Amino acid sequence: MTKSSVVSGFYKLPPKERLAFIRDFAGLTEDEVRLLENTGSLPLEVADHMIENAIGVFPEPMGIAVNFQINGKDYLIPMATEEPSVIAAASYAAKMVRDGGGFHTSSTAPVMIGQIQVVKIKNGDLAKKQVLDAKAELLRKANDQDPVLNSFGGGAKDLDARIIETTMGQMLIVHLFVDCRDAMGANAVNTMAEAISPKIEQLTDGHVYLRIISNLAIKRLAKAWCTVPKEVVGGEKVVDGIAYASAFAAADPYRAATHNKGALNGIIAVVLATGNDHRAIEAGAHAYAAFKGPYTSISKWTKNANGDLEGSIEMPMAVGLVGGAVRTHPIARIVMKILNVKSATEFGEVLAAVGLAQNLGALRALSNEGIQSGHMSLHARNIAITAGAKGAQIDLVAERMIKESKVRVDRAKEIIEELTDKQ
Ligand code: NAD
Repeated sequence: MTKSSVVSGFYKLPPKERLAFIRDFAGLTEDEVRLLENTGSLPLEVADHMIENAIGVFPEPMGIAVNFQINGKDYLIPMATEEPSVIAAASYAAKMVRDGGGFHTSSTAPVMIGQIQVVKIKNGDLAKKQVLDAKAELLRKANDQDPVLNSFGGGAKDLDARIIETTMGQMLIVHLFVDCRDAMGANAVNTMAEAISPKIEQLTDGHVYLRIISNLAIKRLAKAWCTVPKEVVGGEKVVDGIAYASAFAAADPYRAATHNKGALNGIIAVVLATGNDHRAIEAGAHAYAAFKGPYTSISKWTKNANGDLEGSIEMPMAVGLVGGAVRTHPIARIVMKILNVKSATEFGEVLAAVGLAQNLGALRALSNEGIQSGHMSLHARNIAITAGAKGAQIDLVAERMIKESKVRVDRAKEIIEELTDKQ
């Protein structure tokens, strides 16, 4: 008999009963159910309030990247990631940058864009004029929605409109610019966009469909830059290799995607650990990379007149210290304490520095010994665990596989058998 995934009232069940249903549906063992029931430091009742249909939590390793010095201040960087080597590479790169004077950063004001889509407009230019003429009234209405944000100096600051041509005819797209202060701002901006839409319909004689924040947050950019002395990075040949790698990524979208992914390895790990919306960051980074032309890299590395390495990164950074899960997730709250950032803009700048470090770590390895040797030891341990190694066996199996250059589950199983036989 085929099983149905239609479960009437699933959301109304207590998490324990949902889990019992999943157990029967998927044929989970009692051990598997027990693992799911063990939610550790994120209590199930909290998880159940954070999302819908919760049945458990998904633990991810969290570690600390060390050595970061940004604008003269030292930071320890918590990172949640399943990928081996990320934290080691970030720490190593941060140490190199530190030797060159640390990271320097800057950012714009934390302004997000809310989009309002007006369709079925008869006269685009007139509709646009009507909206712009009513700017003061529309901003007032938007700001009425969030007195708390206003009290912190944030709120709707400006408004613009542009006409776009689409497969379904002309549309008027209104942009509402909202200073979100220490919030990521999606809820705040969406609420404002919805609130001013009836008036925009009236002004334009059109119909409003979408009212939503844009993740292409070009008004909320964070920038980081650094100089690494050539002797620290491994000599002029390595500097040249990194500059060539950067030029490759700037010119080729296939490489740029991986280059940017390397920077995001670090950024997303921190964003995740803080309970912020990592999809928003990832969407923003990639959209920004393609904003001015073909998809390209978000960071750049060159050799300066002294032969040293200079790098910089710039990307949208829509993160918050309040809102979303940042204050509800008990671990995210502790992570924020470790990070010790005082504002969302400082947080965004730290993230930019982390991205630049991660990018440097990957490029240095790629242009020197290759990425695999660094990856291998942690990868080998994962393979050992997958093959069933436990405790002290894990390192023994990993070491043997690396020595033999056979990092594979079948080989790991053989070594485990040999070790078990000897015991
Ligand atoms: P939120 O509404 O929970 O919190 C923001 C509010 O906190 C502000 O509006 C303000 O009233 C208040 N606040 C208190 N102290 C503040 C301070 N110092 N600075 C600024 N505001 C302060 O959250 P949010 O940040 O508006 O929205 C973030 C959430 O929206 C995330 O969970 C995200 O996943 C989600 N989301 C994202 C998208 C998207 O990115 N496309 C779309 C929808 C929802």
